[in-house]
Amino acid sequence: MSAKKANLSGELKKYFGFSTFKGQQEQIIENLLSGKDVFVLMPTGGGKSLCYQLPALISEGTAIVVSPLIALMKNQVDAVNGLSSDDGVAHVLNSSLNKTQTKQVFDDIKGGKTKLLYVAPESLIKDDYLEFLKDVKISFVAIDEAHCISEWGHDFRPEYRNLKSIIDKIADVPVIALTATATPKVQDDIQKTLGMSDALVFKESFNRPNLYYEVRPKVNVDKEIVKFINQHKGKSGIIYCLSRRKVEEFAQLLQVNGINALPYHAGLDQKVRVANQDKFLMEEVDVIVATIAFGMGIDKPDVRFVIHYDFPKSLESYYQETGRAGRDGGEGHCLAFYDPKDIEKLEKFLAQKPVSEREIGLQLLNEVVGYAETSMSRRQYILYYFGENFDPVKGDGAEMCDNSSNPPKLKDAKADLKKVLEL
Ligand code: ADP
Ligand code: MG
Repeated sequence: MSAKKANLSGELKKYFGFSTFKGQQEQIIENLLSGKDVFVLMPTGGGKSLCYQLPALISEGTAIVVSPLIALMKNQVDAVNGLSSDDGVAHVLNSSLNKTQTKQVFDDIKGGKTKLLYVAPESLIKDDYLEFLKDVKISFVAIDEAHCISEWGHDFRPEYRNLKSIIDKIADVPVIALTATATPKVQDDIQKTLGMSDALVFKESFNRPNLYYEVRPKVNVDKEIVKFINQHKGKSGIIYCLSRRKVEEFAQLLQVNGINALPYHAGLDQKVRVANQDKFLMEEVDVIVATIAFGMGIDKPDVRFVIHYDFPKSLESYYQETGRAGRDGGEGHCLAFYDPKDIEKLEKFLAQKPVSEREIGLQLLNEVVGYAETSMSRRQYILYYFGENFDPVKGDGAEMCDNSSNPPKLKDAKADLKKVLEL
């Protein structure tokens, strides 16, 4: 073992208290520290944050971490600051800071205190930030949730598209891009857009063997969900609905039925939203009813179920949203309610969009319908979509879906899937 390796384990223990690296974390960190661009594809809960947090903590200068959501950044900054006794090891830079606060951040960076600076891409383009960052020592740039760059991803953010040229203006440093997305199309798009075609790629399996996948027809859905929750009393769960209105209505319905539930969507007052999220994290509330605005990067290890009241718009999103269940490796039940009429509605909605967006949207819908209607192993279906082969009989978690534990009449599902994916 090289001295450096031994040293990395020591730093891991010192800062995070962990004795071993997870998956390929160590190789990823070594390569980044040696100056290479790296691209990390690892499922949710795989431990991506540590791949940039640890090297940032032990490098000279400040690492810029690009992240799409304020809530997400806040979460991480608190976590990182909790790792060290010094204040200001991690900061967020955005327009919500007043002059004094901004100056504090700048001073901490100049003084060499700040190892991680979290910014949203739309902040990064601000001239005064850019000018400042050009003149300080940057260790590397991390782009978290890198799938936001791609229109094929489940969370496209136009501000992500210009990152490459902005980073080039700030510093010539290694870049680490990370995502829990693995469709070959999105991967390709990310690498091209970031100019990372030569990056070292680290891809881990996206199989989540402890998650149980189930699809039910959307009939008596309210009753079914209430019953389900009552069978999982006291457990944490997330229920996803498509519209804000539905979120509010359904959270109320659950409350009326004696279930400890709260709503979460982007239309709620910021304070209420944060309070509801915190209550969920602190286990003052069992169930959160939410739009897809909820959950990205939220690290609650013991979410026991993720229910889709409405079917997701893509298999990608479905994988991401269900990925929030069972992060501690324990039980995670992923239940989705499917009604072809919902899909028709989504198609109608897409019909009003510009052509390119419509075409992408329709293909993604096709794929997710394929998932809903398949009679093959759902795990196999999802992993095939991510470019992975899965043995539906012997694979890890093979028995963990409705079709496998209670197989419907066989039809040629594989051929169906191929048809859908090759559209
Ligand atoms: P991701 O961003 O890939 O979804 P996170 O970075 O949020 O995952 O990490 C998921 C969980 O794994 C966190 O609770 C984190 O503390 C834990 N974790 C990360 N690395 C290790 C490790 N080497 N040993 C033990 N736990 C780890
Ligand atoms: Mg993450």
